[in-house]
Amino acid sequence: MAEPEHILEQMEAHLRKQQPLAGKRVLITGGPTYEPLDPVRFLGNRSSGKTAIALAEAALARGAEVDLVLGPTHLSPSSSTDHLHLHRVETAEEMLRAAEKSFSATHLSLFAAAVSDYRPEQAADQKIKKTDQALQLPLKPNPDILKTLAGTKSPGQCVVGFALETQDAEENGYQKLKAKNCDLIIVNSPDESARGFGHDTNEWIILDRHGQRRATALQSKQQLAHEILDFIRDRGYI
Ligand code: C5P
Repeated sequence: MAEPEHILEQMEAHLRKQQPLAGKRVLITGGPTYEPLDPVRFLGNRSSGKTAIALAEAALARGAEVDLVLGPTHLSPSSSTDHLHLHRVETAEEMLRAAEKSFSATHLSLFAAAVSDYRPEQAADQKIKKTDQALQLPLKPNPDILKTLAGTKSPGQCVVGFALETQDAEENGYQKLKAKNCDLIIVNSPDESARGFGHDTNEWIILDRHGQRRATALQSKQQLAHEILDFIRDRGYI
């Protein structure tokens, strides 16, 4: 007689095949990037990675094979499954290298990372010493990971970007969708009391390249993750 674990594995594999994202590969970027100034300091931001982790969990629950490229955050996905490939990175350049390894094979890519727009031109080898003079730190632009990869996408690949906007949110979001060759863009505006970086909730406006729009309720990042996957499925993107 077959071992119980073996029977369970076969049942799980069978159930997985019936899931809506079975056989689909999903790439997600998330969290901040840290750009070193010297061995102990960096340029970064307050992104927690919660949205990307919620997206990864939602895609896994629907049977996808998930690559999650996560910048430095103390959070981790709670699922431990062979279908989750977690790539921990630190800088924007490392994030680009990790994401480009899987991008061409993915059906759906969601770029939720808060990438530092700039990095120090040169990271100092030793800790920068304090003086009483003003300190000038020349910065250079980081690669735009979303724009670089979406520029190479093939038919059948769906690319989703995020836009955090403080004014003319929808108009700016739609311009960003076009400039970065996305199929969809998720627009949100920061509100320190309930939305955005570090919070468990958010409220999105989902725009697609055909001008369709959906405004979500203020809800948990887990609920939002399922809502965007529903939107993508209902519009036939994958
Ligand atoms: O231009 P902006 O930073 O507002 O664009 C936001 C979108 O672009 C997000 O999806 C973000 O993950 C992505 N992005 C990126 N690489 C960058 C800057 C932004 O992938 N260097």
